[in-house]
Amino acid sequence: MVRHRPPTRSHQLDALFACPLIHDIAADVSPVGLRSRRHPVAFHLAFGAMVRLFGSGNRLDAELAHAETWNQVVERYNRGAVLHLTGVPMNANAPPLLSDTYRHVRRHLTSEDLMETLLDSFTLHSVAIAQSVGLIRLDGRGSRTYPHPSRTIYGDGTVVRPLYGKADHGRQDLDAEEHTRHDGKIYGNDLVAIATRGPEVGRRVILAVGRVHDRGHEAAEAVRLIRKVHAVAGDGIQAVVYDGAFRGVHHETLMSELGLIVVNKVHAATRDEKKRTYRQIPLGSWGHTVRGRDCAHTLVVTNGSVHDSTMDDSGRLVLSDPLVRKQIRRYARGGGSDDRAAGWRFTLGVTVPCPKESFTAWISPHRQLGERGNGRPDQLRLIPEADSYFQTLYGLRNDSESINSGYKRTLLVDRAAALGWRRQVLDLMSWSLLINASAWRAAQA
Ligand SMILES: [Zn+2]
Repeated sequence: MVRHRPPTRSHQLDALFACPLIHDIAADVSPVGLRSRRHPVAFHLAFGAMVRLFGSGNRLDAELAHAETWNQVVERYNRGAVLHLTGVPMNANAPPLLSDTYRHVRRHLTSEDLMETLLDSFTLHSVAIAQSVGLIRLDGRGSRTYPHPSRTIYGDGTVVRPLYGKADHGRQDLDAEEHTRHDGKIYGNDLVAIATRGPEVGRRVILAVGRVHDRGHEAAEAVRLIRKVHAVAGDGIQAVVYDGAFRGVHHETLMSELGLIVVNKVHAATRDEKKRTYRQIPLGSWGHTVRGRDCAHTLVVTNGSVHDSTMDDSGRLVLSDPLVRKQIRRYARGGGSDDRAAGWRFTLGVTVPCPKESFTAWISPHRQLGERGNGRPDQLRLIPEADSYFQTLYGLRNDSESINSGYKRTLLVDRAAALGWRRQVLDLMSWSLLINASAWRAAQA
């Protein structure tokens, strides 16, 4: 991907105020008891985003203390507010909003009653933004066999270190915990973001944000967020890319409950500097009839791919090259009394190049009857790493790391800007408003 200069602060502010996002979310949370006397709720949401743009509330207060700057901000905000059905304009004589007042509103936004509504509303309207810029739409692009990158979502978790260390008595972040991730042990809050993006510069939309509540169960939080996004976007999404946090049970849930193809690597059984080894899972026997004679093949999965197998002279199992993926099919699993399917079943067609006559073997990637645990969905991939299409989708994962580093750049000395996980999730959501508004603005141009 081409490196580019990030949009200027002024462009980001323009986008934030012009985009419907702050107005639509404010309209959802305002009836739930949130009132603000002098400044509309949408402006408070924008203020939270502006804090991320200026690095801290104090810096933003200092900026807005200039009468000219404040008047410009009010003018920009109002220009956007009158364009949207849900927009609430601000009194042109309103005094500058100060971070003290914002913190008061923030307490409501992050309260037990309101926060879930706020985050659901963020997801609802961010999916709309994504679809308005041509992402995760039911538009006929891609197929089950070749999911389109624009209809693929991806995510990752990142541990944000707390504002104060363990030693700072009295101001300790009681929500922070020690997390062990692939990048080592870190003390803090593990935040998760789900996103989608187009190939154009700056065309990224963050769809859901959350926090890992059970240490070591990041994947469960990721699945919860993906479920939320899917509840809005449905089959606009064809595939999900996630890192190593997913195991068989998560693959099984996303495939069978949501009908999504999961793209990620397989956990190695052993690894050292030189090589990784993978478990070998026997799938069973697939037969075909050639000129009246039965011929059977024992198929085995390793590192996500299906292989044909033979025994050598000493009785050792020898695997063929990975079999070429031919097609992925998905079936609605009937059974409910209503129209809705009771989940989904996938089947993977691979070409078995038998010297007598090649044929297609259809293989279930799901947990098998009588199987203990989720060994098959853990080890078999509908689009394995060896497949030529794998990288087209898996490459999106790099953007998750850009999201993490982009967000952390807005934090002073790489530490959370607020105490407690609720405020930190709000901070991440607020920053996401800037990202999503910029994507929306770029698509207007
Ligand atoms: Zn054969």
